[in-house]
Amino acid sequence: MNSPRRLLSRLRNLRAHGSAPLSALVQLVASELVSEVCSIYVQRPGDILELAATEGLNPDAVGHTRLRVGEGIVGLCAATGAVMNLPDAQNHPAFAYRPETGEEPFASLLAVPVRRSGRTLGVLVVQNRTPRNFADPEIDDLETVAMLLAEMLSGDGATDGSPEGLAATVPRTFTGTPLMSGIAVGPIVLLRAVRPIVRLLADDPGAEQDRLDQAVDRMQRGLEDLFADVPNNGGAADVNASREVLEAYRLVASDAGWLRRVADVIRGGTTAEAAVQRVASELHDRMRRISDPYLRERLADMEDLANRLLTSLTGEAPRAPIPEGAILLARRLGPAELLDWHARGIAGAAVEEASPAGHAAILARALGIPAIGGLRGMLDSAEQGDDAVVDADDGQFLLRPETEVRQAYTRAQEARNAKYAELATWRGRPAATADGVELKLMLNVGLSLELPQLERTGADGIGLFRTEIAMLARGSVADVAEQAAIYSRVLDEAGDKPVIFRTLDLGADKLLPGTVSGEENPAMGWRSLRVGLDRPALLRRQLRALLLAAGGRDLSVMFPMVATVVEFRAAKALLLAEAKRVRPSPGTLRIGTMLEVPALMWQLPQLVKEADFISIGSNDLLQFLFAADRGTPSLYDRYDFLSQPVLDLIEQLVVAAKSACVPVSVCGEAASRPLEALVLAALGVTTLSMPASGILPIKAMFAQVDLQSFRSVLTAIRRSGGFGLREPLATWAREQTLIT
Ligand code: PEP
Ligand code: MG
Repeated sequence: MNSPRRLLSRLRNLRAHGSAPLSALVQLVASELVSEVCSIYVQRPGDILELAATEGLNPDAVGHTRLRVGEGIVGLCAATGAVMNLPDAQNHPAFAYRPETGEEPFASLLAVPVRRSGRTLGVLVVQNRTPRNFADPEIDDLETVAMLLAEMLSGDGATDGSPEGLAATVPRTFTGTPLMSGIAVGPIVLLRAVRPIVRLLADDPGAEQDRLDQAVDRMQRGLEDLFADVPNNGGAADVNASREVLEAYRLVASDAGWLRRVADVIRGGTTAEAAVQRVASELHDRMRRISDPYLRERLADMEDLANRLLTSLTGEAPRAPIPEGAILLARRLGPAELLDWHARGIAGAAVEEASPAGHAAILARALGIPAIGGLRGMLDSAEQGDDAVVDADDGQFLLRPETEVRQAYTRAQEARNAKYAELATWRGRPAATADGVELKLMLNVGLSLELPQLERTGADGIGLFRTEIAMLARGSVADVAEQAAIYSRVLDEAGDKPVIFRTLDLGADKLLPGTVSGEENPAMGWRSLRVGLDRPALLRRQLRALLLAAGGRDLSVMFPMVATVVEFRAAKALLLAEAKRVRPSPGTLRIGTMLEVPALMWQLPQLVKEADFISIGSNDLLQFLFAADRGTPSLYDRYDFLSQPVLDLIEQLVVAAKSACVPVSVCGEAASRPLEALVLAALGVTTLSMPASGILPIKAMFAQVDLQSFRSVLTAIRRSGGFGLREPLATWAREQTLIT
């Protein structure tokens, strides 16, 4: 074979002459690597490998011959990532015959995977008539070409001299974490790039400092205008109440620390913009090293601000109007940026680095923008104007989808809108099964900006108010008066509907900025009520704030992460002691516990005597029951709520609680999933608390179910003895058209 270097330089020429890329590429590779056949199979959405170009096989097969990943030798190569070096490919057990390709005469085959950042993009194949093993140097050469091809297929190839437009032909799918559910289909807009800085050095630091001060001033005013506009941004009514997030951002904006750092750099002799850029890149570096999500979020705020400051210094680039339905792509996204782009009309967002608990995610939910985070490597492949689909229901981001795929998503989007319009009719109706069993469907919320969901969904109340979320959004635990104001607003908004406040559940994945856990296993560490009991002043302050907020109204308080009755008793004693001091006393004071730690199951006789209610936190309960970290994506569906041990546990709990007349509810994510909700109701848990998106679909589903008959179905399925119950339950529910 010839040197891949010569191939590279020939590719550069090819690009310069603007020839058709993939077909020209296979021709080149075939001639340079002296093989009778060279073909490129490209991975399409749905794990399909499509013959995208060939030299030597039947050209009519291009675009038609398709194999599943795992099917045939090419599919096996893609699935395993292994090089396939076969002297007699057609007698290999995996060989899949595709008559349209005309590959019968070619005996030997060398297939190498085309991979980038651990992902398979396609397979590169050469074939020859003579049956023989390919030699190691030949394999090396083809792998080098595959590396180059990977760069080209993922869109980075320009620097390697790859043919332009090649990447733009390749659909890609990225999987991430949904931040806000929904579907968006449209062209991509890339988050503004920072303008290049032309002047780096300055002789007059004083003048540069003045420029900086003025720019900071302009930026602050711009932010105030932006935030003040929020309630008037069409569809952004929720953000009116998103003070916590915006307040946190404001605090960062006026934080003297990072501005002092910019001033230091200016004194070193640089222009104000060069100094800001330097500090921004320092922040960026720090962020890469920090794993704590909230600290990263705060640094992301600072980076966002640094970019704003740069714009303020170098002048705003003219803003072209964005196309309708545009999808914003960003490496990171600050809350102010999201607001900006929302005002400009984006329909969806795809972010490389964003967690569901992050500020941008909180605002995306408030603004109703379908968004996905954690899409690593996405920006490497995307170009301004490319078509894309944000499928935030499934956490999929499809780049340059095929026309039929895009049309299918547009139809799904329309169907989704129609379904929501139809579901809205359930808002005012009580939740009940077809055979008249009444249910209470409650909301899980954590920010005041989510309170309008009560009205919007017609939920029966708030079954879980996660008090720590507002503290996380503001960056620290508020004082008693400020906490009381937050809780009081919740009670005002809920009116006659009940609210259960959960005391601070900080720790594990919910760390305040600056608090680094340092524990090996923070989910099982010093967190939640354990902190409250060890730092009683903190817990007492919160309890006082809750009592003050109630101001004579009914109050329900729930403690998280209770592992022993002794802990519950201690927490309850703190609340009762505080209640003696605060006047007016609440109308009624109900004190409950979450059931998240399995050990409580062996303390039920005592627990039901002392708790006014029990709420199952299925998220944590499952992670502790199966010893499976809830934040580890690879364990996400390894252990199932719909399994014998979980159902046995819930059944035992319901029996024990019922005998003591203690109400049991579920407030983990399981409550919002149709099959789980159904099973819970059948087991006697008729109060379910869930995110807002679950209320109407679950209510509509229950109305179709005869719970008594379902109980018999469930009993039969459980008796059949399998560990997992999802499959038979789903089959039954599909037959009843309860789920699709
Ligand atoms: C739970 O663990 O199920 C729960 C509701 O609490 P959180 O998700 O806030 O830990
Ligand atoms: Mg929990």
